[in-house]
Amino acid sequence: MAKAASTRTARTSPATRREAALRREVCEVMRHLYDRGHGAPGDGNVSVRLSPTHLLCTPTMVHKGRLVPSQIVKLRASDGVPVSAKQHASSEVRLHLALYAAHPAVGAVVHAHSPYTVALSVAGISLDQPVVPEAVLAFGGGCPLVPYAMPTTVDVPAGVLEHAKDSLAFVLERHGPVALGSDLADALARLEVIEHTSKITLLALSVGTARALPAGEVIRLRALLTVPELLAQRPTR
Ligand SMILES: [Zn+2]
Repeated sequence: MAKAASTRTARTSPATRREAALRREVCEVMRHLYDRGHGAPGDGNVSVRLSPTHLLCTPTMVHKGRLVPSQIVKLRASDGVPVSAKQHASSEVRLHLALYAAHPAVGAVVHAHSPYTVALSVAGISLDQPVVPEAVLAFGGGCPLVPYAMPTTVDVPAGVLEHAKDSLAFVLERHGPVALGSDLADALARLEVIEHTSKITLLALSVGTARALPAGEVIRLRALLTVPELLAQRPTR
């Protein structure tokens, strides 16, 4: 039995092993987001670059906390068409495709409907006025509040693309955070910084005001790690 398994492994190409590993990792990211309360069962979507021509993306209309690798959709990066006609990628895949096209160095995109971040956006409060230094360091640029657009429509990527070159973190008004990263772990960590910062901001507002960092300090912090430098980093796993 062990010999048969090792023979199978030896015959598997590096590309096949990479795809299998990324499929598992996409499932783990979605399970993590669901377990951490980043949305209802159907909420959120994740994608990752598989190759220069193809992406892997979460499917639509399924429980995101219970995904298995075979459900992850392989699609063309150029137009989002799935390799298998039987599979359907996230209804928000247009947003992912636009971000990869705009940011060649981006390796993964993570989007959730995280409650603290959505709540702040409903109140019209932007994270673009940073309150803690960690957020500035994680986002590279700001974290713009992108005006509301109906989810799944072309208006969503159109709004985000205005800011895509300058930041790795966005908040879609009344919808949720979007984080870009060099890989899945990097994008997930950045999305969690968005939600954590939103939680801190809401707690501060509940007892007083959420005082923004001085503008000069924000400029100093942003100079420490630019967007290209953040994408060139390889996070520790
Ligand atoms: Zn969404």
